[in-house]
Amino acid sequence: MKAAEFEYFRPTTLDEACGLLADTGDDADRCLLAGGQTLVPMMAMRLARPTHLIDINRITELQGIRDLGGSVEIGAGTRQRAVEKDPITRRKLPLLAAALPHVGHHQTRNRGTVGGSIVLGDASAEIPLVALILNATLIIHRRDGRRETMADGFFEGPMMTALEPGDILTTIRFPVWDGTTGSAFHEVAPRKGDYALVSAGAQVALDANGTCIRAAIGVGGCAPTPLRLQAVEDALVGQRLTDALITQAIAPVPDLIDPESSVHASAAYRRRAAPQLVQRALLDALSEARP
Ligand SMILES: Cc1cc2nc3c(=O)[nH]c(=O)nc-3n(C[C@H](O)[C@H](O)[C@H](O)COP(=O)(O)OP(=O)(O)OC[C@H]3O[C@@H](n4cnc5c(N)ncnc54)[C@H](O)[C@@H]3O)c2cc1C
Repeated sequence: MKAAEFEYFRPTTLDEACGLLADTGDDADRCLLAGGQTLVPMMAMRLARPTHLIDINRITELQGIRDLGGSVEIGAGTRQRAVEKDPITRRKLPLLAAALPHVGHHQTRNRGTVGGSIVLGDASAEIPLVALILNATLIIHRRDGRRETMADGFFEGPMMTALEPGDILTTIRFPVWDGTTGSAFHEVAPRKGDYALVSAGAQVALDANGTCIRAAIGVGGCAPTPLRLQAVEDALVGQRLTDALITQAIAPVPDLIDPESSVHASAAYRRRAAPQLVQRALLDALSEARP
């Protein structure tokens, strides 16, 4: 099939894009085009039928990675592959660096954007999960203003976010952890490049004595949204992490998640896989953090 007819716009500034998106002069269904890796197939299958397509790929304000010391800002329109290859990502955001190779194929990452992935808010997607684990700040513009919101609270339901009509996600600000840290990301997928059935990411920080002073852990594919495992984090902080302690801390994981069955995996399978992946991510993060 071919996409239904639409009008195409290619603004070069954020203001112009906000204006085009906010224009309510008629019954138009206005939609942004970023990497097009999801939207274009949806249009081709006529599951999406925007009448006005606003291509944001020429807007330089949405591009690039900026190292601000205590945080790293990534423009929403930055390609996933560019972020994956950037040395700032590897040095300052190792959890994101570990997750990115799992996002589709390098061909889709060459076009797909970090912002497009977060806006879709798929519960199995890697970038929204990392944004939640690190509690990134999402910067959103619209014609009449700008606001910031935390990733915790942004993902509201299956493919539903706090983004409102007329909003453009412009920047994702990831906090950078100081000190001795380690991180790891693992997932199970039917084939390389497929969306994860279950995924888990973990980042830990240790003090000079090897005591865990900070832990951030989350899972994908285990609930209607990506999920942070606060109870597991609480069980680890303030402790010297051993294999036995980690085994004990992850024991409640099957009760903390709310997976659904799909044609690819049953809820029971996801409940079994999630603690295994969390354990693996934690052990790898710990061994990376230890000198
Ligand atoms: C074969 C294949 C395999 C894939 N596998 C995975 C996978 O394993 N894991 C995974 O996470 N993803 C996967 N994807 C999804 C893909 O990698 C992209 O992350 C995803 O398509 C969204 O990014 P995009 O830039 O292409 O957005 P688009 O398709 O252009 O847009 C998606 C939606 O977001 C909106 N949007 C985009 N940018 C903004 C913005 N800045 N502000 C407001 N709204 C915006 C658009 O209007 C549209 O509604 C896969 C895709 C393909 C084709």
